[in-house]
Amino acid sequence: MSYMDKSITEIHELLKSKKVTSDELVKEALEKTHEIQDKCNAFVTILDDAKGSEVTDNLLSGIPYGVKDNYSTKGILSTGSSNTLKDYVPFFDATVVEKLNAAGAVKVNKTALDEFGMGGTGTTCHTGAVRNPWDLKRMCAGSSAGSSAAVAAGVYPYALGSDTGDSIRKPAAYCGIVGYKPTYGMISRYGLFPYASSLDHCGVLTRSVLDAAIVTDVIKGKDKNDMTTWDSSKINLEKACTGKVKGKKLCYIKEITDKNRYKNASKELLEHLDNFQKTLDKARELGMIVDEVSVDEKLLRAEPSVYNIISYAEATSNLSNLTGIIFGPRGDGDNYIEMMKDHRTKGFSPLIKRRFVIGSYVLQKENQERYFKNAQRVRRLLVDRWKEIFKDYDAVILPVSQGPAKLLDAPKEELDENTTILEEHLQIGNFGGFPSITIPNGFINNLPVGVNITGNCYDDENVINIAYALESSMDYKNQIVKEVK
Ligand code: GLN
Repeated sequence: MSYMDKSITEIHELLKSKKVTSDELVKEALEKTHEIQDKCNAFVTILDDAKGSEVTDNLLSGIPYGVKDNYSTKGILSTGSSNTLKDYVPFFDATVVEKLNAAGAVKVNKTALDEFGMGGTGTTCHTGAVRNPWDLKRMCAGSSAGSSAAVAAGVYPYALGSDTGDSIRKPAAYCGIVGYKPTYGMISRYGLFPYASSLDHCGVLTRSVLDAAIVTDVIKGKDKNDMTTWDSSKINLEKACTGKVKGKKLCYIKEITDKNRYKNASKELLEHLDNFQKTLDKARELGMIVDEVSVDEKLLRAEPSVYNIISYAEATSNLSNLTGIIFGPRGDGDNYIEMMKDHRTKGFSPLIKRRFVIGSYVLQKENQERYFKNAQRVRRLLVDRWKEIFKDYDAVILPVSQGPAKLLDAPKEELDENTTILEEHLQIGNFGGFPSITIPNGFINNLPVGVNITGNCYDDENVINIAYALESSMDYKNQIVKEVK
């Protein structure tokens, strides 16, 4: 009998009625972890000594889960999937992990990510690329690659992720699961390794919207250790899942979804966009109003550059403490400058180094006005446009990415001006700190694709409920990969 492929409430009922024990669940999760490690390479650390815990009224008690390896876990290796921290063992738990401990949840592994969350492929982890359980030749996207692979493969019902540009919401789509990042500051980031502080969000990967709501209710809250957190005690996401959406207003952006705009579009892309239109029809059948809205194309096209400039600049500053002096392996050299240089040269992958070079460049005094400050201004314009949309609409609904998961050995595509915005638009959710959730939206070529719903700040209950209703109108709730091969 397997339990880890069930929903949180189902597992909780089974625990309560003593049909299964927490120890048995932990054993199953660990066995699956090893099986998936062999196939998908999804984990940095496997906690083979994990023990079951007491079952209480808390829905998460006694149930195993996974932690992305950029969360600090007390006494447990926490690497950020980087060689610069390959031996780092924190002496404290991230607030989120502390809250899950208090709830009686049981962590069974630490999951692999693109180094420090910087990347969207799940291939730059110091432990090697993560493979997609739906097709092992394909990537999971990233950076929350290991967490997504594990949840999709049925290792446990949920795992922690983090999202600076789309790192929860894109791998969720590629793995056919749910990925949710709530409003900025709803979940404390204390103990999460920072990447770009003005964009970083904690969040969850699950197999249903209700499970995402249940976990987020437990881990959210104001934290004295993170001054960006706010009081969300009146928000109850689980209760918000009513499915009552009649009269709710959704919109999609013409410049992103109109297939006539994509010259030389692949068959896959056209199918993906048609599939999205069918989902809009489902929303209409549920009684929601769905309109098309137009956004200045120039503004949309500026979005990826704005993201790169701001996130690289903030990352350069945030990660300057990685010198090998305080944490991580010591570098070689005759003095501390040489030692730091050696540590960083050997420790970071080329992708990260490139980002630091660009980040330093845009932060240089003479370049700041032209690049960094201008990027901030365009960020503001994009956020203002989205806020204007939210005056008339409950949420923006858009397809995730250009289609299903890409092959791991696919030739690196040149950035295609036409499709970049389709690939990168989720980052606007980070610019504005908007609550944003991806849910499965069927299959193209037998591979899962996703649809995203993004609403206004603090309107998480509404966003979650819209996603819940839409999910209920489709057949992809609680889906898992039946056989990973
Ligand atoms: N793919 C984006 C990047 O490379 C987003 C990563 C993230 O959200 N952590 O920065």
